[in-house]
Amino acid sequence: MDTVKLSELLFPHIHKLPADVEADFPARNLPEGAKVTRLAPSPTGFMHFGTLFPALVNERLAHQSGGVFYLRIEDTDAKREVKGAEKDLIDTLAYYHIHFDEGAIMGGDNGVYGPYRQSHRAEIYQTFAKQLVAEGKAYPCFTTDEELEALAQVDKKAEIKNKDWHTDTTEQKEAMLKLRDITIEEVEAHLAAGHAFLIRIKADGDPAKKTPFTDLIKGKLEIPENDEDFVLLKSDGIPTYHFAHAVDDHLMGTTHVIRGEEWLPSLAKHIMLFRYLGFKMPKYMHIAQLMKMEGNSKKKLSKRDNGAALSDYRVTGYAPESVIEYVMTLLNSNYEDWRRMNPTLPYSDFPFSIKKMSTSGALFDFDKLNDVSKNTVAAMSAKTVYDYTIDWAKSYDPAFAEVFGRDEAYALRILSIGRGGKKPRKDITVWSDVKPYVSLFFDEYFAVTDAYPENFDKADVKAALTAFRDAYNPSVDNNAWFDGLKVIAETLGFAAEVKAYKASPEAYKGHVGDISTFLRIAVAGKTTSPDLYEIMQIIGYDRVIARLNAQIDIL
Ligand code: GLU
Repeated sequence: MDTVKLSELLFPHIHKLPADVEADFPARNLPEGAKVTRLAPSPTGFMHFGTLFPALVNERLAHQSGGVFYLRIEDTDAKREVKGAEKDLIDTLAYYHIHFDEGAIMGGDNGVYGPYRQSHRAEIYQTFAKQLVAEGKAYPCFTTDEELEALAQVDKKAEIKNKDWHTDTTEQKEAMLKLRDITIEEVEAHLAAGHAFLIRIKADGDPAKKTPFTDLIKGKLEIPENDEDFVLLKSDGIPTYHFAHAVDDHLMGTTHVIRGEEWLPSLAKHIMLFRYLGFKMPKYMHIAQLMKMEGNSKKKLSKRDNGAALSDYRVTGYAPESVIEYVMTLLNSNYEDWRRMNPTLPYSDFPFSIKKMSTSGALFDFDKLNDVSKNTVAAMSAKTVYDYTIDWAKSYDPAFAEVFGRDEAYALRILSIGRGGKKPRKDITVWSDVKPYVSLFFDEYFAVTDAYPENFDKADVKAALTAFRDAYNPSVDNNAWFDGLKVIAETLGFAAEVKAYKASPEAYKGHVGDISTFLRIAVAGKTTSPDLYEIMQIIGYDRVIARLNAQIDIL
């Protein structure tokens, strides 16, 4: 068979040679050890929480080594493509501050190794496919899926295999094997009749033979050789994932392919492709899938599970920093220790290590995420929290955005309570927590929701509130203010010191802490709140008096 002639018959429109294409993609000029990585998502649905895993690992490894991280959109499956998914991908990755040095951007490309959308690279793939056909390593297949299925009779995805026909020949297998040996005349007849064709690889592997392979996460593996004549180009001339992966990662200079472990079973195909194409293989890391607990057993976090859709995190109001911080804790087992030692450093200062990654799936856990988020938000400035909250509320609680955004300085004073310092307050996990937390500062939301403790006489509560109202001086400091509470306590038969009360409880009605509880309920509406002195300072004299009066009236 004249395979060069065959390649011309199949690809008359391809005039370039692989060497011409290679010239358009020169080797990258990077320092020794610099890694080139990519995120290669398919725009086939909403963005999954799990996508952040490879995204961060790729990003960290590239940027930590002074390398390049790029975004390639793998849009070769038009049937599965979802409208708007590409925009969602690009927006979401930007929202999480995942920075790409090059790659697909909205409406175009940024970088010289593009196009970065596989659907725009058909000619490139066809150039390499043509070469493989010319070298007898690939062949056209005019048989439709249905015909193949009928031949195989059993298998939905009929596979044309290299080896086992020879030992266990059946009529069907013979017929399938013959597809490989299509003649030039048959090809010409098919083409003349306008029949569509696929390009299949002509596999020379023997699955009984194993290729040693080192995955940077999974370790040493033995990969059985590929014997399946898998598809390289579909009938529309668009490549399969396998073929596009080999061609693109070679041309774009990827040094490390970091992807989900669901690709591990395809590795044999990729090893074969790189060999057939004469490309040096990149290094591989297959990341274990995210797991969740169901009862006592671990299950894969599926697309439908709570927590899977990244858009939900935005709606609920998680800071992107919180989500990333959480992913970092899942990615490297020593991250949390590092964070404890370095509470204020950006996560990018952490020395990320492949060795510290889990080989089995990390466990997704909302409680843990919430815990991480509380700490992350506690470490933010009041201004950052304010900006995020307003931004979130504009979309999800516009009435609150209006109230909270009315006076920025006032909102910042509220958010500054207990912020900074060694033990910051941790009241906010998600932005939707801000409204209940700050509502006491706004008359439109303020309400007394807790009751006064029942073991006290209403008259004493009323007397305490009245005494405080009559003596309240907003210009004294916290200590003097508290001394004022002690005076009220003593006057009303309460102990000025908790210690004194504990020593002889029968001698007092209660202690100064109870007085402050009465005030807290009247002024803040509940028994737990941030520092009461600060609350009074922020809401101001008139509000304090008005709230006290309202309670004195009804007590
Ligand atoms: N498009 C593939 C996917 O979304 C990419 C796998 C890879 O990173 O190579 O699963």
